Amino acid sequence: MKVNNWLNFIQSLLCPSGCLLCGEAGNFKLQFCPACYRSLPFNRHTCPICALPMPPGISPDILCGRCIKKQPPYTQSFAPLRYELPVSNLISGLKFHRRLYLAEPLARVLTDCMGEPFIRPDLIIPVPLHPLRLQERGFNQSLELSRVVARHYHIPVNWKICRRVRHTQAQSDLSEKARQKNLRQAFEVYGDIQGAHLVLFDDVITTGATVTELSKTLKKAGARRIDIWAIARTPGW
Ligand SMILES: [Zn+2]
Ligand SMILES: [Zn+2]
Repeated sequence: MKVNNWLNFIQSLLCPSGCLLCGEAGNFKLQFCPACYRSLPFNRHTCPICALPMPPGISPDILCGRCIKKQPPYTQSFAPLRYELPVSNLISGLKFHRRLYLAEPLARVLTDCMGEPFIRPDLIIPVPLHPLRLQERGFNQSLELSRVVARHYHIPVNWKICRRVRHTQAQSDLSEKARQKNLRQAFEVYGDIQGAHLVLFDDVITTGATVTELSKTLKKAGARRIDIWAIARTPGW
C-alpha cells in the first residue's frame, strides 16, 4: 500500500464524533442522535424465516408466499433494518468506501433490536468473500459486523471454517434461477460442524440465494440448524 492509501486507511478507521446521520454533536448511544435513531427504517413486521418485510398488523408467525411455496434450508432470519436510505448509504460506505468505523454502530443496531432471550447458536460464520474479492476490498464487511455481535453475546465467530472456492459472477446481473445456479458449489467447509447450530452473518439479505446455497453446504456437512442474521433486508425479492 502506498503512503497515501495508508493515510486514507487510517483515516477510515477513525470514527467521526457526533450523530452519523445529521452530524449533531454529542456522545450518543449507538452513534445516532435520538431523532435519527427513531427515524431509521426498522424492519419490524417480517416473515420469520426470511425476514422479508411484511405489512404491519400481520401476525408474526405468518410466512411470506415464497417461504410457503418452498421452505428455505435455514430456520430463521433476523435483520433489524430495511435496506433503504439512509441504511443503504451507511452499508455502502462501510463496504465500498472503507468506512470501517460504521461496522460498530450498524452491528449494535442489531444487538439493540434483537433483545434476549433468543436461541443461542454455537457459532457465528460470516458469509465468506472469494479470496480475490477479499484482496480487492481488503476486508470482509460481514466479518467486521459479526465480530461486534459475537463480542456482545460472547458467541465464537469463525471465518475460516467456510470458504468461497468459486469466484462467481455478480449476482445482481442475473435472474433468480441463474443466481442459484451461479452459486452452486461456490462454498466449501473446512472443519467439524456436526450437530452444530450456526448463524450465518451477512451485511444485507437480498435474494437469499447466497445464504440458501451456503446453508445447503453447511447442512450437508452436518450442521443441525442454521439461522441468518444480517443488518438489513431488501424490501422485495
Ligand atoms: Zn442525528
Ligand atoms: Zn419468507
